[in-house]
Formats: sequence, structure tokens, C-alpha cells
Amino acid sequence: MGIPFQVSPQPPISTLESAAAETASPAWHARRLDDILLDLRTDAEVGLDAAEAADRLSLQGGNILEQRPAEPRWRAVLRQFQEFVVWILIAAAALSAALGDWADAAAITAIVIVNAVIGFLQEDRAMRALAALERLSAPTAVAVRAGTRLVIPARTLVPGDRIELAAGDAVPADARLVVAHGMRVQEAALTGESEPVDKQPTGPLADSTPLGDRPCMVHAGTTVASGRGSAIVVATGMRTELGRIARLLDHGGPESTPLQRRLAELGRLIVVICLTIVALIMVLEIARGGGPAAMWRSGGITDVLLRAVSLAVAAVPEGLPAVVTLVLAMGLQRMVRRNALVRRLPSVETLGSVTVICSDKTGTLTRNEMTVREILTAGDCYRVSGGGYLPLGDFHRLGGAAPIDVSGEIDLLALLSTAARCTNATLQPTADRDGWRVVGDPTEGALVVAALKAGLGANREGERVEFEIPFDADRRRMSVATRLPDGSRSLAVKGAPEAVLPRCTAELRNGAVVPLTEERRLAILAAAASMAERALRVLSLAFRDLPGNQDVPSDDVEGGLVHLGLAGMIDPPRDEAAAAVARCRSAGIRPVMITGDHPATALAIGRELGLADPLHGGDRVVTGADLDRIDDDMLAASIDQIAIYARVSAEHKLRIVRGWQRRGDVVAMTGDGINDAPAVRAADIGIAMGIAGTDVTKEASDMVLTDDNFASIVGAVEEGRGLYDNIGKFMHYLLACNAAEVMLMLVAAVAGWPAPLAAIQILWLNLVTDGLPALALGFEPPEPDIMRRPPRPPREQLITPLRGLMILIHGLLIAAVVITVFRYQWRGDDSRLPHARAVTFCTAALAQLLFAIGCRSGSTTAWRLGLASNPPLLLALLVSMLLQLTAVSLPIVRPIFEVGTTIGADWLIVLAAAVVPLAVVELSKCVRRWVSSSPSDEPPRIDHPRIPD
Ligand code: ATP
Repeated sequence: MGIPFQVSPQPPISTLESAAAETASPAWHARRLDDILLDLRTDAEVGLDAAEAADRLSLQGGNILEQRPAEPRWRAVLRQFQEFVVWILIAAAALSAALGDWADAAAITAIVIVNAVIGFLQEDRAMRALAALERLSAPTAVAVRAGTRLVIPARTLVPGDRIELAAGDAVPADARLVVAHGMRVQEAALTGESEPVDKQPTGPLADSTPLGDRPCMVHAGTTVASGRGSAIVVATGMRTELGRIARLLDHGGPESTPLQRRLAELGRLIVVICLTIVALIMVLEIARGGGPAAMWRSGGITDVLLRAVSLAVAAVPEGLPAVVTLVLAMGLQRMVRRNALVRRLPSVETLGSVTVICSDKTGTLTRNEMTVREILTAGDCYRVSGGGYLPLGDFHRLGGAAPIDVSGEIDLLALLSTAARCTNATLQPTADRDGWRVVGDPTEGALVVAALKAGLGANREGERVEFEIPFDADRRRMSVATRLPDGSRSLAVKGAPEAVLPRCTAELRNGAVVPLTEERRLAILAAAASMAERALRVLSLAFRDLPGNQDVPSDDVEGGLVHLGLAGMIDPPRDEAAAAVARCRSAGIRPVMITGDHPATALAIGRELGLADPLHGGDRVVTGADLDRIDDDMLAASIDQIAIYARVSAEHKLRIVRGWQRRGDVVAMTGDGINDAPAVRAADIGIAMGIAGTDVTKEASDMVLTDDNFASIVGAVEEGRGLYDNIGKFMHYLLACNAAEVMLMLVAAVAGWPAPLAAIQILWLNLVTDGLPALALGFEPPEPDIMRRPPRPPREQLITPLRGLMILIHGLLIAAVVITVFRYQWRGDDSRLPHARAVTFCTAALAQLLFAIGCRSGSTTAWRLGLASNPPLLLALLVSMLLQLTAVSLPIVRPIFEVGTTIGADWLIVLAAAVVPLAVVELSKCVRRWVSSSPSDEPPRIDHPRIPD
């Protein structure tokens, strides 16, 4: 299709660029709209076409603000050498070299480099994963291209694009308004003015008009507070007003999580403990060698020093922060695959402690695929057939089997044509056969489809929309004023019956407008309630004629209405919602439904989903009006008895969040509309809808659901719990292994035996065990019972006293096995020392590697988990074992690791000893399971934490 405004000859694009650049004289707000359209070679209705937009994008660059350049990779590599332990190692290498021990110096240097490379790779991977997540949450914009409304990444907007804006949207670029309906914009970010300002597509303003006084312009960085409109983009990226004031935005690094901060503290504590023990070992070894002077003379002092340094390096879990970040980042990517995009890293931890999930109904628990099923006019009741958005179906009189001819049904046609006028939704065919989708609000889409089933199209010839009072969740109604072909004006109104009926003074009966009596009003409300009990969402439709001169869209206009009837639509629950609700319960999480819909509809859906909880309030539904009657103390006292809220507004949501929080609960709360932002922000986990949610709510949220589905919240909680568990597992592993190495050396030193391992062997062990297997434990899938456990207390430490004890016991166990092997091989004969060390070296390596299998779960045996259920761990163990085998068998590397002899038949001893720690750990799980096994499989009853009165 040819677009008239792009017919050649076109001015060269450089003209366009200079037009865009010359924003100062005259400024965009000081020009006539027609001139702007001409300058930008665009059309106010159909916008640009895709090819032209792509050309402009490649010429002018994306609609993005410049950021500080990322840290170059070489600098990130160099940073790895700034670690304290690395400095110690470098000093140790220098010492060896100075004493002529070139083999040790080279080996330590190699270890330093490998350490740095691993550190860099882990950090780089984590950063890239986090950056990918950030890209996923990049803002989008609704643009009209070649006449079609499209949702596109905001960074691809170009001058000349037509954009559509609605309440809650972030304005993506500077733009000149073409249409505005009740539009108010929050401009505080640019002007400091906290009250939203009215926007109107007025004519040109004086060039000097300040930014805050330009009603015809909208600017990037501001948000639409109410109403809607469309505009032509005039400046993007750094050429916007925001770009001017924010030449360089410093985004800083990713937020560190409380866990990461606690780990850093723990790391410092471990350093102090380890260095003390290492110093003790050193003193004991020197004493054994006859004192410092004697050792200096014999040259043994270097060995002691090197060993001490190596042990210190091995004991300090220096790689922990990088591994934690990497595991967190990988976990977040896994959540993305389950449709939950976590925007703030610390939220991952909070997810595991969530005790209450407050969720919207429409679209989250239900499919948000509305189909009108019943229509009630003053005199008749109709059933509508057909499914989904396919505009094919019949009308039946209630009780009648045969379809009726609607052409004679005046009241029905009046209702449907009013519904078709009072909408912004459009119907579009999809690629699949019989497929149709709604662009816009599904509630309105359902009415458009019902009208089409009766042969009434949405855009009728000769009709022109004059103004609109948009729907908002607090008013619960919407109106559109239309100029009809005969010149008269009509206002179409639709909304919740309680919001529309009080404004009606008459109703339409058999084509005649008759007064609406109080009796009829009550009868209509009762009929609406009965439809709602059948899980239908009910809307009233009404209209009025407007006098020729009445122009102002205000609440007063919506008075003296003629009621046309009720439309009831189904919105079936999502298939997976009931199961997700049940999973919440077994996980000790309270699911709560909060909806703007009718209480009876809410209860009907709540019952279907198993939300009405006999233990907590049963079938009780609390409405916004009920909430208004009680104060916060009363609400907090009874809040655990309420699972369903209906007809609530955004302020009520905030009170509900606070009510639960006062009891010490950790609350996740969903939101979509702009008014939900405060509640979403106040919740411990604020969740925004990715599809239906506004930019403002997304910005306020900790997590965005890419499919708007309740089940995805539960999935994210599961992943969050799993992630936290995994961090605990690999820390358990790392610390137990480190403790084992320290204890091994300590016991030998206290017993007056020679050191069981050489310095380089200690460093190697540290590299092999701290590296791949620890990381692979971070990839452990969530344990099968993870959603049958109660939520983790929010203030619980990762290393609880019990876990700390277990780490020590496991470390001791490994150390005991290894020292026994050493003692047996050494037998008090120093000539056997090299061989004894080689065997000890292998036993320690293998015992630690196998112990990783035992760390996969605190309660379930590896056998039950399935040996192959964590392939990265299997691979990591295999690679690490091969590396170890190479270190002790390959003749050219053996001297580096001070392995003078082959292990030979002693491999049997190595194998037999190395499985002992794993076997003990696994057996203890079986015993614990057997002792605590309960006869029933019922989920545990969980008492929610209460804060003391
Ligand atoms: P939630 O998403 O929180 O579960 P909801 O989507 O069911 O809530 P709202 O969108 O706040 O609730 O709608 C509340 C009521 O407003 C509905 O029950 C309906 O009667 C009416 N309503 C909904 N959408 C529209 C609309 N587009 N135009 C007019 N009235 C509407």
C-alpha cells in the first residue's frame, strides 16, 4: 500500500537530520503540527513505514541515552591480581625463585594465573548474564507503523514515529501531541513539579515557553498519570530534553545482595581464623625442626613458609563472591525460562522466604480471554454462542435452542452498538486458522466480538469520536462521545453496574426510553449479582444524547444516562492456576486473590481455584467498602482469615500489604495499573505484569512476569528457594573441604608428624575442589520436596549454627580419613614420605570430589536424587578426576607436584578411603530419614510467624 506522504521526490535524509537537530529555532513546541509533520515527512494517522523507520534508525542511532563505557576486559583481568591472597602467592613465588627453587616458583606462578583466569571467567560470565537480563527488561513503546499498532523496543523509535500513550506508560521520547483524552503527565523527573500536568494538542507556543508549561509536548523520562493520547516523536536518545540534562548516566554496578554482603563478612571471619591456625601450624612445624635457627641452616624453613602460605590460600574461600554472583545470575536466567524476570538481585533471596502471595485475578489467575456469554436487556435475556475471539456465533433467547434473528431485537442492538462505540480495542486476525486476537483491553475486545456476531462493526462510517473519558480501575467505567452521521452527539458508557446504575435515570425497553424505578434498579443489581455468581464478569451499558454545545469531558457528563442492560462474560481460570494454588499451600505460602471485580465473580473463581480456604475464613469475601470500615489494627488482626478481596482499589492493596507485613509476613504482591505502583513498591516482592502491566508498575517492581501467570510466581518462588539452597550447598562443600585441609595439616603438626602434603599439592587441591565441582553444585535442580517445606525465615543466616557444626564435622571426617591414610603410608619412616604424600594427595583429592555428591542435598540421598540429575556436576567431577590423574601419573608433570613415585597398588587404598566420607554422609541421611519418616505424606502444617504484640 502506497503511503501518500512518502511519495518522492523526498528531501535527502540530511535535511531531516538537520531538521531534527535544529530543535532550538524554532523549538518543536513553537511550530505548527502540520509543519512538524512536513519536516519529519510523516503522517499523523499512519505514522512511518517499517523501511523508512529502519533507515532513520541506522542514520540517527537508537533512542538510548549514552552510558559510561563498560570496563575494558584487560582491566577486569588485571583486577583479579589485586586480591590479597594473590599477593601472598606472588610473594611466595618470588621467595621460591630467590632461593633457587625454580620448579616451585613456576608452579605457583602458573596457579596464580589459572586462579586469575578462573576468577575473570566467572565474573565475566556473571556480568554477561546480568546484562542479558537487563536487555530483557528493556522498555517497549506502542508505535503506529504503516497504520498498524505495534509494540516495539523503545530504543528503535525514530523521529516521525507516531506513538500511543496510556496511563502508566513511560514516555519513550520527546513527542508532539496529536490527540489527548484526559491526559495528565507526571513530569517531576524533568521539572521537579510533583503534581501531574494536563496535556492537550494545543497550537504553537512561544519559543521561550519553559519545559513545564508546554501542554502540547510530552518528554522522555516522564510518565502518563492518567488518560491517553497519541503523539509524533520529534527527538530521541541524547537529543531529548532528558538526554540534554543527563549527558552521562552512571548506572553503577549491579546491586549487591544482603547475602553477598553477609558472605563478605563471613569471608573476613574465616580469614582471621585460618591465618591464626596456619600461624600455629607454622610454629609447631618449626619447633619440630629444632627451632628457626636450625631450620634456617637446614633450608627446611622455606618449605614450612611455602606450606603455610599455600594453606592460607587454600583455606580462604577467595572465589566465593564471584561464584555466588555467577550462581545467582545463572539462577535468574533459569527463572526467565520460567517466565519470571527478576529485576533486582537481592529479590532472589527474598523469594525463598515469601509467606503470602497476593495476586490479581484477571489475567493472572484467569486467562484474560473474555467471551460474552449472556446479555440482559430490560425485557429479555440472551445467550451468546461461539468461543474465543472468533467473531462468529449466534444469539439465543434464554431457554430457547434455536438461534434468533437479531435484526428485530432493538434493545439488544442498541446495547451492542453502544458497546462497540465505547471501546479502544480492535480485533486482528492471527496467522493460525480461525485465530483472532484483541489489541487492547480483552473486556472491550469481548464486547467488540459480541457486536460483530450481531453484524455491528466497531468503526461505523460517518461517526467521529469527539472525546473519551478513559476507564480506570477506581472509577470502574468508561465513556466515549461520538458525533453521529446526522450531526447529533451521543455518549456511550460502560462499566461495573454499581458504577453506572447510580448515574442512570431511565432505561431502554422495547426501543422506548422509560424512567428507571428504584425497584428496577435493585432488580438489575440482583440480576448482575446472580450472573456474577456464575463466575461471569458483568458490565452495565448505558448511553445519553449530548447537547450540541457540551464539550468538556467531565464526570457530570456521565449523568442522566439511559440504562441499556448487562453483558456477562466468562474469563476461565488458567489451567495451571488451581495446581499452583495447591503448591503454594503445601509450601506454607498463603495465596490471596485481590480483584476489582464483583465479589460474587471473585468468590466463584476463588472456589474453582481452591482459594476459599476452610481453615482461614472459608468463603468470606471482603470488599473495598468493608475495608474502608475497619482500621489498620483490625485489618492486621483478621487478615489471615481473608483469602479473597473484591471491588478493591489500589489504596486497599497497599493496606493489605502493610497488614500482612505487620504480622511479620513476607509479601509478594502483583500489580498492573499505574495506581498499583505504591503497593507493588511496598511489598517485599513487588510483581508487575509483563504483558498487561504499565511501565510505572514495572519500574516499581522487583520482578516482572513475562506471561502474567500466577503459576510463574509460584515457579519463581521454587527457583528462589532452590537457588538459596544451592548457594548453601556449595558453601557447605567449599568450607568443609577447606576445613579438612586445615585440620589435616593441624593434626599432623600437633602430632609431631611431617606435613602430609607439599605446598604445591595443597594449592592444586584448592584449585581442583574450589573450581568446577563447587560451581556445579550451584546448578543443582530444586530438590523434589522444596515446595513441601515451610518458607525460610527471612532473617535466617545462610550458615546456621547447625550447618556450621555439620561443616566442621564433615571437614573432620575427610581430614580423619586422609590423615589415617597418611599415617599408614608414612609409618614413622621419613624415607617413605614422598610416596606417603603422593597417596595422601590422591586420597584427599578424590575424597573431596566424591564428597561433592553428598553435598547435593541435606536430606535426600544422591541415589534418590538420581545420579544423572545434575549433569554439570558429573562432568565437573570427571574433569577434575582426570586432572588429578594427570598430575600424579604424567611423568613430565609429576615432579611439579612433587610426586616422586607411582601410586601403583595403593590406588586401592586411595579408592577405599576416598569413598568413606561420602558413604558416611549418605548413610546418615538414610538413618535420619528412617528415624523421622512419618506414616502420612501430608504436607506439614505451617504456623506463620507472628510478631510479638
Ligand atoms: P484484577 O486485574 O485486579 O483482578 P479486574 O481486572 O478484574 O481486577 P478491574 O479491571 O479493576 O478489575 O475492573 C473492575 C470492574 O470494572 C470490572 O468488574 C468491570 O465491571 C469494570 N470494567 C473492567 N474493564 C472495563 C472497561 N474496559 N470499561 C469499562 N468497565 C470496565
